[in-house]
Amino acid sequence: MKYVDEFRDADLGQRVAARIAAEANPNRQYAFMEFCGGHTHAISRYGVTDLLPPNVRMIHGPGCPVCVLPIGRVDQVIELALKHGVTVCTYGDTMRVPASNGMSLIKAKAQGADIRMVYSASDALELATKEPEREVVFFAIGFETTTPPTALVVREAAKRRLGNFSVLCCHVLTPPAIAHILDSGESGEGVVLDGFIGPAHVSILIGSRPYEPFAASHSKPVVIAGFEPLDVMQAVLMLVRQVNEKRATVENEFVRAVDRDGNLAAQALVDQVFEKRESFEWRGLGEVPWSALKLRAQYEEFDAEARYFVRYKPVPDHKGCECGPILRGVKRPVDCKLFGTVCTPESPVGSCMVSSEGACAAHYTYGRFR
Ligand code: SF4
Repeated sequence: MKYVDEFRDADLGQRVAARIAAEANPNRQYAFMEFCGGHTHAISRYGVTDLLPPNVRMIHGPGCPVCVLPIGRVDQVIELALKHGVTVCTYGDTMRVPASNGMSLIKAKAQGADIRMVYSASDALELATKEPEREVVFFAIGFETTTPPTALVVREAAKRRLGNFSVLCCHVLTPPAIAHILDSGESGEGVVLDGFIGPAHVSILIGSRPYEPFAASHSKPVVIAGFEPLDVMQAVLMLVRQVNEKRATVENEFVRAVDRDGNLAAQALVDQVFEKRESFEWRGLGEVPWSALKLRAQYEEFDAEARYFVRYKPVPDHKGCECGPILRGVKRPVDCKLFGTVCTPESPVGSCMVSSEGACAAHYTYGRFR
């Protein structure tokens, strides 16, 4: 398949691996965080870590939209469905994220709540348009990649004067989360992080420019990479070179899709509908300032939190679940005592076992038990 197979070429992979081994300084350790769950999935699926020398380590980051949803946000949606009787529309993975008291959206559905799995935000908008007697809430999650479609439906709902449609907005932002990880100084499984692999799809939207301030202020290189195994290997080589040369700049391996400015039309659309929240709780990272979006005042009537007065209440993670430290890059899935025994993709205890982009699910699916 063109544009895919060429980025999965085994011989080329071995050659890049040989270059990394040749250029990595044997007298030092390298620790790089791949922020995005898409990269975590690719690394596990294609055995990228097996191709790296022992002194080059990959640390998984928090860039999986389902994983970073705190329990309290899922509780909020369940409350909307069960107590307020609204129809909740959401993406498939979100339905299985464990909430408080053994609940999840799929279990709430089994109890009679009207919860629909949708493939896009516009599915939710169309449902609200076709069935005006129904109150429809779209549970909007995700990073910068999924934000423009939500902005579009909100704008369209305003244009159609839809009084039965609203959005529970849990969209989060990548650069503040990376900066937060660096500021906390905690991540890296006990070692200092030397740099980041920047996300692919997110960067198509925002461009490479937003990573520049913290690359400079924290002296940490960032290489934006595609999701294929050769993309990731090449990004690791570029990071090793930056570290060796004592450089900390933003480089772009994913030149076939990312430029410095990103998609300006999509950015303008998002800016028209959303503004930054002062603070937002992430699972694992806690409250991160200016790291999420809310609807602007002119679209407040489409804000489900305001419309139904459902307050967010923080809830601690499930006992024994290590999703928090895993999302901060402090622990690995195998460090969790529940991994692969009590907690499996069929019966997830924590959010990191739900989505294929979650570190625990990726390790379990591809037999990465070390
Ligand atoms: Fe949480 Fe399950 Fe991962 Fe353990 S294995 S950290 S319980 S998601």
